[in-house]
Amino acid sequence: MIGIVGAGQLGRMLALAGYPLGLEFLFIDKNARTPGGQVAPLLAGELTDRRLLGELSRRCEVLTFDWENIPVEALEKLPGKARISPPLRALAAAQDRLAEKRTFELLDIPTTRYASVNSRADLDAAIERIGLPGVLKTRRLGYDGKGQAVLRKPADVAGAWEQLGKAPLLYENLVPFDYEISVIAVRGADGALAFYPLCLNVHRDGILRLTRAPFGNAALTRRAQNAARKLLEHFDYVGVLTIEFFVRRGQLVANEMAPRVHNSGHWTIEGAETSQFENHVRAVAGLPLGSTRARGHCAMVNLIGELPPRDPLLADAGLHWHDYGKEPRPGRKLGHLTLVESSARTRDRRAFKALSRVDRATWLALR
Ligand code: AMP
Repeated sequence: MIGIVGAGQLGRMLALAGYPLGLEFLFIDKNARTPGGQVAPLLAGELTDRRLLGELSRRCEVLTFDWENIPVEALEKLPGKARISPPLRALAAAQDRLAEKRTFELLDIPTTRYASVNSRADLDAAIERIGLPGVLKTRRLGYDGKGQAVLRKPADVAGAWEQLGKAPLLYENLVPFDYEISVIAVRGADGALAFYPLCLNVHRDGILRLTRAPFGNAALTRRAQNAARKLLEHFDYVGVLTIEFFVRRGQLVANEMAPRVHNSGHWTIEGAETSQFENHVRAVAGLPLGSTRARGHCAMVNLIGELPPRDPLLADAGLHWHDYGKEPRPGRKLGHLTLVESSARTRDRRAFKALSRVDRATWLALR
């Protein structure tokens, strides 16, 4: 049995990928109506509840995560026999933007210029050193652009401090990137490594909207894979790990890492020989990794805030529909579409058409 802490859509897709391998799953989350709870048994309670985590650890061989922000203390020294994969050291580094930047630096992975900010004086000093424009981010619990403010001119500083100043922060330069990519990598329990082809990602309002893969030339791929390899080996990692990069004039600048399967890898369900979800499950269960080869030119479009009418999209041959079973809410990821084509040109044409139907604002911004 594999225990999954957090039963969001990532947990759900992990369980759905694992059942055909003959594996079983048990979630912890607040309620059974969560996306994961709809497909596998669930212990209902807080993700930090030591009693429930102890029960999970007693009933499972291995614990993994759907969400990386569980306080590491809650997961330390649990009773029972379960291994924890990915390792808590990787979780700790990914939870705190400062620890994450220091890890990138330690491993010689190029990243933004940054400063830790704990007071208004720190912020002024950081802006003095790094300059404007920049981004002020909460060190913890930021995702999908939440807990961030872009500072373009001195007049923006007071408002951003007012909005975010209560939490420990990080200030970094705003990267005038040409585009954003991610690399999704997996390391098996035996140390075997595999990498998915690079993903080209489009965000709007800090939220991923569109991914296309495979992307990039051999040099970009080599640099991204080297960075991923260093992190995986540094942490003696088991499972899937993702790094998001800005690309400027062909150079990579690491933005952040996620110690888990990633939204930019959802195309792998139909588009790769083994999906990121199956490979994560294989890795944490100690099974051989599967091929990460792409089956064609793939795209993924996120369905955010509300689901569009399903049936006309299903009637479009080759378009795959994924509904996470969540309540609609503005800015919330509710599902995604994928397609796999034999040429990049057809893939792009169809992906943009799908985008125009489900996310007109992003489509207009890209035209
Ligand atoms: P994050 O939550 O840090 O991944 O940020 C979400 C998105 O905001 C990124 O994918 C970028 O599109 C944008 N962003 C965040 N930090 C920066 C930065 N330092 N420079 C440029 N864009 C950024």
